[in-house]
Amino acid sequence: DVIFRTEGITKVYDTGEVKVYALDGVDLELYKGELTVLLGPSGSGKSTLLNILGGLDHATDGRVWFGDTELTDMPDRGLTRYRRDHVGFVFQFYNLVPSLTARENVQLVTDVSPDPMPAEEALELVGLGKRMDHFPSEMSGGEQQRVAIARAIAKRPKILLCDEPTGALDSTTGVQVLEVLRDINERFGTTTVVITHNAEIQRMAHRVIFFQDGKINEVKVNKNRIAPS
Ligand code: ADP
Ligand code: ADP
Repeated sequence: DVIFRTEGITKVYDTGEVKVYALDGVDLELYKGELTVLLGPSGSGKSTLLNILGGLDHATDGRVWFGDTELTDMPDRGLTRYRRDHVGFVFQFYNLVPSLTARENVQLVTDVSPDPMPAEEALELVGLGKRMDHFPSEMSGGEQQRVAIARAIAKRPKILLCDEPTGALDSTTGVQVLEVLRDINERFGTTTVVITHNAEIQRMAHRVIFFQDGKINEVKVNKNRIAPS
């Protein structure tokens, strides 16, 4: 099943002197339950696309659908509801509240979601069952990112959008974080889109989309995907 579809998505930044085509006519289908990776050089449009899929930004031109719902011209209130009900975000920097424990950080989301899993369950899922009462300053970067993932999945989102979740981590820790994302995708069937430079994820992904200059260069379907053991 197609969960996201875009038709001719273009995003232009007009800085006054020059027009930057962050996206230049992107046609794309993403499939329900898949883990898709966006690869490509810095500035090739990956984050711009992720933000449009996540309802954080509008395209300049073209159309985008989430299932049967068209996001293209949805007013901000609708997009806010869409994000709240369906999308979990993970960014390069963890954005945890420093004065709250891991559990309390996740509870910020579970307290306001209609059908959350318990914060403890989300933290167990990312392997932090023994760290729930630690503060961010007492955790490594990889652990903090896993708290951020627990926070993102606690509301049971249909979609998980991750923009360079490994960007601030060394490669070994980065792989552990990617494995957590893959396990969640496998376990809940959460449609997951990840931007990362960590080559390891190509082995775990269902689909790899290569960007260049705001366009899709190549789409690879991974038949030899390594599923969790
Ligand atoms: P990637 O995620 O692949 O690194 P981005 O989507 O962040 O690429 O950026 C694509 C292009 O759009 C780049 O040339 C970037 O400089 C430009 N861009 C992104 N955001 C803005 C903005 N807010 N204002 C102007 N240009 C932007
Ligand atoms: P809401 O009204 O639901 O708070 P927001 O505009 O604050 O809507 O954002 C919706 C979701 O997007 C939230 O989960 C928020 O954490 C996430 N989000 C948006 N932009 C950012 C950002 N720059 N950094 C971290 N999270 C962000």
